[in-house]
Amino acid sequence: MFTNRGMSSMAVVGAATVVTMLALRALRRRWSPVITSKLSCRCGKIQGEVSAIRQDSIRINCYCADCREYATFIASLGNQDETTIGKLGDNRVVQVCKSALKITRGQDLIKLARKAAKPNAKGQIYMHRFYASCCSVPLYNTVDFLGFVGVFTDFLDERCKEYAGPVRMFPEEALGTPASPEADVFVPDFLWKLLRYHLWRKCGPFDYKQEPVYWAAAEAKKQLSDDKRRLIWYSGAKRKEDSMVNLEEVVEIKLGQQTPVFLHYRLPMLEHLSFSIVYGPKGSKTLDLTCKDEFEFDHWVTGLKAIFYACKNKQISKEALLAHSKRFQKALEKNNVGIKLTKLPEVKEKGHVGLDDCIEIVTHTPQQLDTKMERLRERLKTMSQQVSRLDHHSAAEMEVDLSLLT
Ligand SMILES: [Zn+2]
Ligand SMILES: [Zn+2]
Repeated sequence: MFTNRGMSSMAVVGAATVVTMLALRALRRRWSPVITSKLSCRCGKIQGEVSAIRQDSIRINCYCADCREYATFIASLGNQDETTIGKLGDNRVVQVCKSALKITRGQDLIKLARKAAKPNAKGQIYMHRFYASCCSVPLYNTVDFLGFVGVFTDFLDERCKEYAGPVRMFPEEALGTPASPEADVFVPDFLWKLLRYHLWRKCGPFDYKQEPVYWAAAEAKKQLSDDKRRLIWYSGAKRKEDSMVNLEEVVEIKLGQQTPVFLHYRLPMLEHLSFSIVYGPKGSKTLDLTCKDEFEFDHWVTGLKAIFYACKNKQISKEALLAHSKRFQKALEKNNVGIKLTKLPEVKEKGHVGLDDCIEIVTHTPQQLDTKMERLRERLKTMSQQVSRLDHHSAAEMEVDLSLLT
């Protein structure tokens, strides 16, 4: 216990410490150099610079899956093989005050991307990510109501290395362990900058009002490259070469759930919406997909079959091309042979299960089920012990912990 006098003298010491620290910071900042680094997108149409006090800025290596998915998506917009993703799944930015970034040329080529239109269930804030539409590279990320911006160092000149850091963020989502890991973000410093930058939250060359592209939109999950030679999908957990199939390497398209991956995670109710692309040397790899409805299934399988035959320079009859489509088969039964796949109505049959109906099943991994099972086993054990205790005691000494029953 402290006396009142003790408390007040402690408060004085505390306040003095804070004032001294702030004064030291201010002094250090005064002597901290201003570093100017030129910005240029890959093709050079967009030009600008970052000019910030070293003390106020920090280089960050971000290992989060979101940044990777975003970088892959932006590269795919321009059919670029090269992404900003590093060997361990990192993206590198320098975080500066919004007022430190200037764009001197090509402002109209800078476009906005966001993860999704609505926040997710956890209320996660989606950043405003600006990219170069001319050469499909990410330029900088920010949030409209905060005062700082993370500028990709890939498109800054050498001088950006003079900024402090790098520190790391989200190392738990990295694709490997670096030989000499960066320091973690120093949280008090980060929070202090957040406060400091706040006055400049409305500065900078940011057009938040333009219509964004949503890179996590369901339809963007897998897509064909413009030259129809590659199928690309977005998965933060994987490297780019693992999330792409060269359609020339496709050996077979297997309908249903026949591959080892599917046999391991069987979902019989979704068999009619599933297919696998077998590819690679001797068909050693599979891409196993389940569509959200029959419509999507028909489109993907028909399209892939057509491309598969075209790649092999072979012909395919319309009947074989559409053999997988239940809707087409039904139209045939009615002698409606002039039917076009895109004109077939989507009729959801009674008792027919779609992917949406099964989301709960899909979200439980075998490990999660194991953990749940383990917990239930523990509870059963405790309950059995309680019951055997009851057997030996009179009713007056009952000690059942009711919370176990809930
Ligand atoms: Zn460019
Ligand atoms: Zn990130």
